[in-house]
Amino acid sequence: MEFVDLKAQQKIIRKNIEAGIKKVLDHGKYIMGPEVGELEAKLAKFAKVRHAITCSSGTDALVMALMALGAGKGDGVFTTPFTFVATAEAICLAGATPVFSDIDPVGFNIDPGKLETAIKKVIKRNNIKPKAIIAVDLFGQPADYDKINKIAEKYGLFVIGDGAQSFGAKYKKKSACCAADIACTSFFPAKPLGCYGDGGAIFTNNDALAENLISIRVHGKGSHKYENVRIGINGRMDTIQAAILLEKLKIFPKEIELRQKAAKNYTKLISGISYLKPPAIKDDVTSVWAQYSLLARDEEKRNELIKKLNRAGVPTAIYYPKPLHIQKAFKDLGYKKGDFSVSENAAKRIFSLPMHPYLKHEDQNFIAKTLAD
Ligand SMILES: *Cc1c(COP(=O)(O)O)cnc(C)c1O
Repeated sequence: MEFVDLKAQQKIIRKNIEAGIKKVLDHGKYIMGPEVGELEAKLAKFAKVRHAITCSSGTDALVMALMALGAGKGDGVFTTPFTFVATAEAICLAGATPVFSDIDPVGFNIDPGKLETAIKKVIKRNNIKPKAIIAVDLFGQPADYDKINKIAEKYGLFVIGDGAQSFGAKYKKKSACCAADIACTSFFPAKPLGCYGDGGAIFTNNDALAENLISIRVHGKGSHKYENVRIGINGRMDTIQAAILLEKLKIFPKEIELRQKAAKNYTKLISGISYLKPPAIKDDVTSVWAQYSLLARDEEKRNELIKKLNRAGVPTAIYYPKPLHIQKAFKDLGYKKGDFSVSENAAKRIFSLPMHPYLKHEDQNFIAKTLAD
């Protein structure tokens, strides 16, 4: 059994992917070849956003988004400590300061009430200037954007959606990619829509921001590559990766449905187990189930269940075992254990089960049985 079965997917589309790669080898435009523009048009259409700008990774998407918004030295960017390191790392790379705020225990996304308290605290302390919020759509479920946007408006902040795990998810019937000023996603192979290497994309309805991002992606270019009007990065997506994504995007809507079916089935199977709490999806949103993450009663039970599953040949993962505020990389921010109790509690109890569109019913039954025994 695989945790994410990319081979099952490849079997279905291998021929088309090989044809797509061959086309790139034939025309030889490895950097910003025609497939990149074609993919951007298709991504924008799929996400129903004016601009889709592909880039080198989800991490670079976040860095570029922060650069485009002018977030840098002296600016505070709010996010949660219960996320992949790249969310906060990008803030540091842009030169700004991460300010952590705890998650809501049900959806594992930033708690809007606590967020406002954190913003007020920074304003009062007056050492950094609140600039932006990065809301993370953890495990594929969109954050509470209406509330977050309202708070952002009140304090004059930008909102970036870290949708690395949520591409294809819906927030109030609309694509989660248009719920924030800028949304970022990742096409790392194991994400819901993944390429065969690193890749990412940035989405916005704002024309000026899009223009800015296109410049930042190629070393801050002006009207051409050797006119440099701002500091940028080398943030391009490879043409070969775009060719692969063009094929994968074709089957992605169907794959989202299959993920949702698999998640529903898991929840049905384990909802009777007293020491487990299946994930809950909030009203008015859909998840693309980047992960099926559930809570055990306590740390001891979690570790016991993981051992049991692994022994039975079922791979598991823990996202995330150590919240960012207590990671060594962020020690200069001055946080300590106990600062974010909801994140710390989740880190002790959470674990993730195999999740991908080609998960078999019999495997899910076996996993549920192993968990219940
Ligand atoms: C994967 C991920 C990223 C980073 O994406 P890469 O493409 O690996 O750079 C950022 N944020 C979150 C929440 C992620 O899961």
